Amino acid sequence: KPAYKEDIKATRESLPCFRSRSDLLTMVRDNQVCIIVGETGSGKTTQLPQYLYEDGFSNDGRIIGVTQPRRVAAMSVAKRVAQEMDVPLKEEVGYSIRFEDFSSPKTRIKFMTDGILLREALLDNNLDKYSCIIIDEAHERTLSTDVLLGILRTLLQRRKDLKLIITSATMNAAKFSKFFGNAPQFTIPGRTFPVEVNYSKYPVVDYVEAAVKQAVSIHMTTSIQSGDILIFMTGQEDIEVTADAIREKLVEVYRKKDQISTFEEIENIEIFPIYSALDPELQNRIFKKLDETKRKIVIATNIAETSLTIDGIRYVIDCGYSKLKVYNPRIGLDSLAITPIALANANQRSGRAGRTGPGVAYRLYTEESADNDMYASPIPEIQRTSLSNTVLLLKSLHIKDVINFPFLDSPPIQTLLNSLYELWTMGAIDNFGYLTKFGTDMSKLPLQPALSKILLNSIRYGCSEEMLVIVSMLSIPQVFRRPKEREKESDQARSRFFVAQSDHLTLLNVYLQLSSNRFSPKWCDKHFVQYKSLQKAEDIRKQLLRVMQKQNFSLKSAGSNWDVIRQCICTGFSHQAAKLSGLKKYVHLRTGMHTLIHPTSALYGMGDLPGYVIYNELLMTSTEYLVCVTAVDPFWLMESGLLLYDIKRIEESKETSDG
Ligand code: ADP
Ligand code: MG
Repeated sequence: KPAYKEDIKATRESLPCFRSRSDLLTMVRDNQVCIIVGETGSGKTTQLPQYLYEDGFSNDGRIIGVTQPRRVAAMSVAKRVAQEMDVPLKEEVGYSIRFEDFSSPKTRIKFMTDGILLREALLDNNLDKYSCIIIDEAHERTLSTDVLLGILRTLLQRRKDLKLIITSATMNAAKFSKFFGNAPQFTIPGRTFPVEVNYSKYPVVDYVEAAVKQAVSIHMTTSIQSGDILIFMTGQEDIEVTADAIREKLVEVYRKKDQISTFEEIENIEIFPIYSALDPELQNRIFKKLDETKRKIVIATNIAETSLTIDGIRYVIDCGYSKLKVYNPRIGLDSLAITPIALANANQRSGRAGRTGPGVAYRLYTEESADNDMYASPIPEIQRTSLSNTVLLLKSLHIKDVINFPFLDSPPIQTLLNSLYELWTMGAIDNFGYLTKFGTDMSKLPLQPALSKILLNSIRYGCSEEMLVIVSMLSIPQVFRRPKEREKESDQARSRFFVAQSDHLTLLNVYLQLSSNRFSPKWCDKHFVQYKSLQKAEDIRKQLLRVMQKQNFSLKSAGSNWDVIRQCICTGFSHQAAKLSGLKKYVHLRTGMHTLIHPTSALYGMGDLPGYVIYNELLMTSTEYLVCVTAVDPFWLMESGLLLYDIKRIEESKETSDG
């Protein structure tokens, strides 16, 4: 039973948005496009769609669509709005994220990721089922948001009845207005309280350790009623480590004072991690109101910067970094890298402490490094990631001249050219830049081009049943559990699934064994397999299967001939191939970069490492690792196109750099 019964009406009316309700509605009625600016927590995401709904914008059966840059936010906000409107989710209020559609014909307010709306634009160029589209969190400048804005600018000419609302934190608002022919801007008057910003005096060597120290110190020196703590970290790993370390440290401190011995005995604190791969049920717990004798410590990725508002935060601890997908146009690869945040992000993070009263922010970096090492604002995703999928999508929308597409900020021309080249080598576009039949088929699959390619090629290779599994397994975050106190045991359990020479086939093996154990949760538990993730993979497999069946492809099984599967995977990944050089080192074929096989791989520690491998992902830490690797025959690589050319190029670039 909830300890606290929320008065929804009162809560809604207390939000800063509420006082501007009628002004906002008038502005939307009078203009086709408007830009709405407001502090995080003012009610933009949860209230605006409801105002439009109440004002009749979906009375004709059309939909008020709201895009979010993040899956977690789309889900969480939809649940909240359904709760506020007192309707079951999936009826009037729904959400849709990749591989998870919680909307129905009854849905009038639909939250979705920006990527989903882009895909819908493919199926219905006019987006006719929408009466209003809210591009929320536009300041995040995700790749999909930027592309959507370009597409919508053209669409608004054809759909004079369509309303477009762009919401943004303060940064970038003027830019959006200019892009849409000086569309009016509306700033929701906010209430924010001053936040005292403290920088670290000395450079921080280990930000996890520093964050733990700071959090424990706040908890021990301030009263619980003074407010909750929000810690910004970069991702799942450092979040989990920080949470564990805080628990340990608190036990140590309390043991000295009160003789308690476990964290469970500490009654005045609860720790809530939040990151995108976290179980959705756990995610929603961060909003839970605790009773007054308890303090909340939320440890989050940059999702808590603006996407999710957590009430009651008075202390912010900011590690100064975030994980970003970055693309290096010279080498033509995307990778996840931990990079310093921009000053604008740092200010957003600090601002989280001042929503309910004056707050304090601790920045775990020096003031000099903020001045010298941080950009003023973050670089939009379109200027730092691969654009192959985007180019494929634009081509499918019959936009032939992608270089002159109305981008809010143009991507580097080299990235666009690399993407065109990659799509051409994949057979997705022809010599004249037109989409081929194969490219059209690729664009129908909600996958990265390389995965679309191997799935489509599997028809020819006669291994579609297996490839559907592999591609689905690659689309979930984690297959294995690795609980901290049972690392050895779980590593052993994982190694029992290994298929020599291939992590892709290892994934297939896990799935097949689970399926022959009738998807039993018990079996998963015993073998350290993540039951929920596997359920998700099965769900994705079924969806992809439906897409393939719709096009009447003949889907066969390879039976026991698993070499064919490796061969087929090779056809999509020849641009991500590496050659053994020395004992353990691999040289990336296209770039000459040195890498190692990741310790979680089935190939790691094998006596005889294969001469050539392809990989699914490159992990850049202090060392570069290949993640999810499969041994391939160099002959297959040659058949897939790039090998000779690339080896030659590496040799050439060595000569030039030597000379
Ligand atoms: P904005 O989009 O302007 O940042 P929101 O509409 O997200 O603001 O938030 C408005 C209020 O709704 C905040 O006080 C926030 O804490 C609350 N809220 C949002 N989502 C949830 C949720 N899932 N559970 C409880 N409260 C929520
Ligand atoms: Mg919002």
